[in-house]
Amino acid sequence: MADFRTPLRDMRFLLYDVFDFETHFARLSDRERVTRDLLDPILDEAARFAETQLFAANRVGDVQGCRFADGMVTTPTGFKEAYATYVANGWTGMTGDPAYGGQALPHSMSLIVEEPMTIANMAWTMYPDLSHSAMNALERHGTPALKQRFLTLLLSGACTGTMCLTEPHAGSDVGILRTKAVPNADGSYAITGTKIFISAGEHDLVDNILHLVLARLPDAPAGTKGISLFIVPKFIPREDGSPGVRNGVACTGIEAKMGIHGNATCTLSFDAAIGFLVGAENEGMRCMFTMMNAARLGVGMQGVGVSEAAYQASLQYARERLQMRALTGRKNPAGVADPIIVHPDVRRMLLTQKAFIEGGRALAYYTAQQADLAEFGPPEQRADAETMLSFLTPIVKAFLTETGFESVNHAVQIYGGHGFIRETGVEQYVRDSRITLIYEGTTQIQALDLLGRKVMLTQGKALLAFVEEMQRTAKQCSTPLPDVAAALERIAAEWATLSLAAGGRAAADLNELGAASVDYLMYSGYASLAYCWARMALVATRLLNKGERTGADPFLTGKIATARFYLTRILPRAEAHKRALEAGAGVLMQIDDAAFDHI
Ligand SMILES: Cc1cc2nc3c(=O)[nH]c(=O)nc-3n(C[C@H](O)[C@H](O)[C@H](O)COP(=O)(O)OP(=O)(O)OC[C@H]3O[C@@H](n4cnc5c(N)ncnc54)[C@H](O)[C@@H]3O)c2cc1C
Repeated sequence: MADFRTPLRDMRFLLYDVFDFETHFARLSDRERVTRDLLDPILDEAARFAETQLFAANRVGDVQGCRFADGMVTTPTGFKEAYATYVANGWTGMTGDPAYGGQALPHSMSLIVEEPMTIANMAWTMYPDLSHSAMNALERHGTPALKQRFLTLLLSGACTGTMCLTEPHAGSDVGILRTKAVPNADGSYAITGTKIFISAGEHDLVDNILHLVLARLPDAPAGTKGISLFIVPKFIPREDGSPGVRNGVACTGIEAKMGIHGNATCTLSFDAAIGFLVGAENEGMRCMFTMMNAARLGVGMQGVGVSEAAYQASLQYARERLQMRALTGRKNPAGVADPIIVHPDVRRMLLTQKAFIEGGRALAYYTAQQADLAEFGPPEQRADAETMLSFLTPIVKAFLTETGFESVNHAVQIYGGHGFIRETGVEQYVRDSRITLIYEGTTQIQALDLLGRKVMLTQGKALLAFVEEMQRTAKQCSTPLPDVAAALERIAAEWATLSLAAGGRAAADLNELGAASVDYLMYSGYASLAYCWARMALVATRLLNKGERTGADPFLTGKIATARFYLTRILPRAEAHKRALEAGAGVLMQIDDAAFDHI
């Protein structure tokens, strides 16, 4: 099995050279000022933890999986110890409110610092990730008393959190969920119902788990307007925070599943379990969105993270595996054959992965800056940053997971038959990453959100601002990189017109919205990555021209070459999505349901 190294050079290039996070952090209020002196050692430590402890537990986790017996879940060997290290390193409370034990670092820090962990072991990283989402919801919507009682336990790492939305009959359509919440005389609520597919719903990493549960009050209006959010502890915490009386929530089983075997996917049964309202009654969806938005960025990052691990493995393999000679003559005359990296199509598969991973990482970092600005930025910028964050979130979630899944499949293909064999380890990445396209809202749901809510309902406010930024970058590229500038200028203009046309058709017939949405999302993803690649190529060119990094710095020259690869060989896919969505809903809707049969 190949090992992996945290891509610190790429991360630092984005942090300091492309997005100037030091200046960005300095503009935030109510957050600790993060300088390079502070960030670099944190990254180094996260990398060390990921490359050693977590990566070692990744394969073990896949093979052993979680075990369920008597309502308890045992996580794979090494998971519990890794969680203890994570807590000891102070990572649980990194971005939390200091009034409740947090360290007040900006939101983006958790996305950046946890990426190495996701690369090393996605299944494990989901445990702390879910806690982060729960913390965000509590911090935003909990009362001071609720935060004192529960947020402190999440920030210290004594408890982990979950997100309980899904029920057997209610997946994408959360509005039809049935779990009931009946008010108790003491102000708490009795929660009754069944939740399925709950990640980290039961495990042995900590003694107590805090479930954030969506449920319906007896007289609640139908649909999403009648949903409230509750915090339901596995054990009711005592005054000192230690687990007290067992609550009426039980894990009744875990799923046997395709991937992420180290993360327990639980069925939870709530039987008059004591719950505490978070936010106002019937405002649960709004509160849950706080959790889901942060979680969606995290899932987009999973798409990047898992494919980073697969890319590194396939790159190493492509350099070592000797098969056939280069078409233009021997490159390795001493060997029986040339390494497969000489073959143009193997290079295409490697470059496709590199382009999606580095471009995706850039888009995620850019979006994470918007998350910081939306809450802690200069007051006059907050609303715009929030709109931009809402617009980019479905693209990050869906596009980076779709491209992440494509990338890991390229990695397997580069391994040939050996990629299909478990021993090499790359097939695990395909199985692990497949869920990222489904949970936290499927690609289809993200696409409806993007075109319907984030573009049409806002008259394309954030889209047009993003397009303007693309045009500004294109101008900056025009002298040093005229080909890059031209490609960016063209896609920016086309994205704006295409959005207007798609929105217009959808407003006239909602089937057009559903028919266009996924192609529109994919188009938007390719366009956004064009922006990221142009920006990275521009910065790399400037650094090369500056003098101190002249000559052959393969990292920087590789950035420019990958940008050109992306713009000429990947970006044309946007045209196919454009033509498909312009074909409209007719061809999808005119076929009778019965006519799908061909038996
Ligand atoms: C491993 C795993 C972990 C999970 N973790 C959690 C968790 O921690 N908490 C939690 O609450 N849930 C969790 N889930 C549930 C997950 O979020 C849901 O599976 C997901 O939201 C989809 O719901 P569903 O499976 O019911 O599919 P459905 O909603 O039944 O969808 C089936 C198909 O129909 C499509 N579809 C549905 N409506 C539309 C539409 N209007 N337009 C176009 N297409 C549509 C969907 O995209 C999908 O392709 C997890 C699931 C798994 C498998």
